[in-house]
Amino acid sequence: MLKSHTCGELTQRDIGTRVTLAGWVNRRRDHGGLIFIDLRDRFGMTQITVGAQGAAHDVIAQTRSEYVVQVIGTVQARPAGGENPNLPTGAIEVQAEEAMILNKSITPPFTIGGAPEEVDESVRLKYRYLDLRRPRMAQNLVLRHNIVRFIREHLSNRDFLEVETPILLKTTPEGARDFVVPSRLHPGEFYALPQSPQQLKQLLMVAGIERYFQIARCFRDEDLRADRQLEFTQLDLEMSFVEAADIRALIEQLLIELHRTVSKKRIQQTPFPIITYADAMEHYGIDRPDLRFGQQLFNLSEAAAKSEFALFRNAVEAGGEVKGVVWPGGNSLTRRELDELTESAKRYGAKGLVWIGVAGEPGADGHYAPEAIRSQAAKFLTPDELAALVRSSGAAVGDLILIVADKAAVVAQTLHNLRMEIGKRANLIDPTVDAFCWVVDFPLLEYHEEDKRWYAVHHPFTSARDEDWARLEAEPGAVLAKAYDVVMNGWEVGGGSIRIHRSDLQDRLFAMLGMAPTEREEKFGHLLEAFQYGAPPHGGIALGIDRLTALFAETPSIREVIAFPKTAAGTDLMLDTPSVASDEQLRELSIAVALPPAKTQSPAAAQ
Ligand code: ASP
Repeated sequence: MLKSHTCGELTQRDIGTRVTLAGWVNRRRDHGGLIFIDLRDRFGMTQITVGAQGAAHDVIAQTRSEYVVQVIGTVQARPAGGENPNLPTGAIEVQAEEAMILNKSITPPFTIGGAPEEVDESVRLKYRYLDLRRPRMAQNLVLRHNIVRFIREHLSNRDFLEVETPILLKTTPEGARDFVVPSRLHPGEFYALPQSPQQLKQLLMVAGIERYFQIARCFRDEDLRADRQLEFTQLDLEMSFVEAADIRALIEQLLIELHRTVSKKRIQQTPFPIITYADAMEHYGIDRPDLRFGQQLFNLSEAAAKSEFALFRNAVEAGGEVKGVVWPGGNSLTRRELDELTESAKRYGAKGLVWIGVAGEPGADGHYAPEAIRSQAAKFLTPDELAALVRSSGAAVGDLILIVADKAAVVAQTLHNLRMEIGKRANLIDPTVDAFCWVVDFPLLEYHEEDKRWYAVHHPFTSARDEDWARLEAEPGAVLAKAYDVVMNGWEVGGGSIRIHRSDLQDRLFAMLGMAPTEREEKFGHLLEAFQYGAPPHGGIALGIDRLTALFAETPSIREVIAFPKTAAGTDLMLDTPSVASDEQLRELSIAVALPPAKTQSPAAAQ
């Protein structure tokens, strides 16, 4: 070994020990003849000192940031006043006797010791190998490792088998586009990369494995929305002879124990609250509610239908909704802040935002005097209506009521976003708490106007509730699924379902999704056939490892917890991918590229 200790472990107990350290020069400071370097490795940082003379001095004097150096020396106490209480090694230093430069470094594009957010992310991604030298990034990788290790142990202890499934596969729909890989051996034919191992884990249940899991890579060719990756990692899990509650109990226990292992925070509520999809949409406007704070939405639609206020009435008459949310203490917002809020409501899709500040108590008659209400909309409401509105919102003096009247989907999306903004800006979120919940009773199918057909909300292997199969064809929109999502702090960290395990029912569902018999056979014949050989009842779930790790690392971006992520545009700036295939490769694959790739086009031709 080129080192006897790491740069993170020497303390007062080691004083007098002769050690060999090796690592990177984090910083060098010259004080007259005396030189200090902070030597860094994955495990920490140790201060090295070298006197004004000697061989070690001459070597260390040549070092610069990110040089790789080996130092042999003796551990000694730092001079009084020179201790650094923030560093585990802060009480000692190593007095160098010998030193060797193991490798030089050209000047890095950013200081490794600095805060990551101060460096442009594209530079960090291009030089990811330097970015990962930062202690914070290394910690994220350690956390990720610990999470995966915990999961593997926890499930192995409960008789789960980790089984690998292929990456070169056939289409496995999860609602995204497939990545396809051309086959050289079968010209003109393609593999699809798995959007998830969904069908394979179900086939493993047919195979009698009973308890399967895998830390699985999934590939989805999606237009990248904020904080998605084209490939990501799941804890994928499947069990036989279970019901939804069994899977939920297993995962809940896993999450509670994982949380205890990797987090210092407290879980707000156990057992995790179980919320129906309908209630989540009604009270939070989203199917992944952040339960760390209240501020549930309130519904004014019934009163609005009879309102004097045309904006309210029209929205309900057109089949929409009128709902609102309260900002505690929000009446102190300035007029400019209110205008900005209206602008953000518009960005979320609403035509406008009605705001009502409650400045004072109502009078003896229950009505609000003009000076007790701050709103441009109040004049459109009768005194009774206004009083009833404030009452049903639950707002107190000093609060602000925000109301959106629009199509249900627009109301939900806008108020969800406003609620989240309120949570942050009004400091309603306790930073020491994590809130989990289950969302259940999702609809099985949803109708897409664009191509006028039904789509599976989860995926097409999810079972309807037993009592709903009878109305699958007659009332597809009313059928509920045996599906469940687990949510942490407003992020969906996992989702799963009890599956269809009968061939006839699976075929019926494929037919509902508009697949002709030949397409069913071609794409899913293997599954329909397998189900005829005694498929056990089964179900499962997948947890997003990237998102879960990001939540535990308290970073908003999953790119911070992935060693080599792609940009939001799906490119790798370090490797410069995607890139052009050579003519030779294309010839072997019998592929002709119709358009020259954008990369090779001249700027004029690209326009
Ligand atoms: N395969 C599903 C997904 O990737 C999870 C599951 O149903 O188990 O979302």
